[in-house]
Amino acid sequence: MIKNSILVFILIISFTACNEPDENFGLVIHGGAGLIKKENMTPELEKQYETKLTEALAKGYSILKSGGSSRDAVEQTIQIMENSPLFNAGKGAVFTHDGYNELDAAVMDGKTLEAGAVAGVRNVKNPITLARKIMENSAHVMLSGNGALEFAREQGLEIVDSSYFFTERRWKSLQKALKDKKFGTVGCVALDKEGNLFAGTSTGGMTNKQYGRIGDSPIIGAGTYANNNTCAISATGHGEFFIRYTVAHEISALMKFKNYSLDDAAKLVINGTLKKAGGEGGLIGIDCKGKITMPFNTPGMFRGFATSDGERGIFIYKE
Ligand code: ASP
Repeated sequence: MIKNSILVFILIISFTACNEPDENFGLVIHGGAGLIKKENMTPELEKQYETKLTEALAKGYSILKSGGSSRDAVEQTIQIMENSPLFNAGKGAVFTHDGYNELDAAVMDGKTLEAGAVAGVRNVKNPITLARKIMENSAHVMLSGNGALEFAREQGLEIVDSSYFFTERRWKSLQKALKDKKFGTVGCVALDKEGNLFAGTSTGGMTNKQYGRIGDSPIIGAGTYANNNTCAISATGHGEFFIRYTVAHEISALMKFKNYSLDDAAKLVINGTLKKAGGEGGLIGIDCKGKITMPFNTPGMFRGFATSDGERGIFIYKE
């Protein structure tokens, strides 16, 4: 009896703790995981990544600090990375086997559990914004290909010629990847002062992908997920594994049903389940109290975080 009352008390405490805004806020970003090693980088390229990650992080942080929503913070932070040729999303998207750029993106709102996703678009400059529009202004969660393009036009989004996505570096990596596999993606998760979590992910997918392949990024519960009662997650890595192991939702479920902390749940999935299965990658997460996690099982992951307690950092390799 006493035991049961204690349990109920703890449950009430943790429930209220998650649903009452306490002015904590923060965000975490990633710019993709993979074979990112110091010996393969030049100091100039390293600097460029650090500068762009810092700019993206600062944008999201300033939105959250001034009382803006996690929804705006995530979208605008990701746009900065999409507009940079450095990351495999938007401008810097990798090439498909046939030499196209086919972009995927998703967003999810932890308060309402609304979501928007887009798959396989070739001419939309900022797929993250299209994902948000799909969530807000359509009756659907996911649109793909030509229909998604038509909707983007109707919504007045910027449409670009496919040549916009041509970067020498990605073209060369396609030629190389005809032999090995390559990935990378951008993502952002945020908690705002109202206690609302939001997640977003945007990607060019995997270099050399074939046949209209769609990865985990736009699949809610696989590469992107948010729920105010648990966490917001954005993943990066070999998408087929993240889909099969429903990675982002698995972490939320471990928190909800097994009372795991965000960090324990994320590490279990990335370093345990996925690693055993041969699934390479990582993820970023933030919980309803502003606690963060950034595990990966690859040599590196572009990542950074900033929270209202004044902590912040940008990292590339394993520390
Ligand atoms: N997860 C993405 C995909 O499989 C790629 C990546 O994150 O690098 O499409």
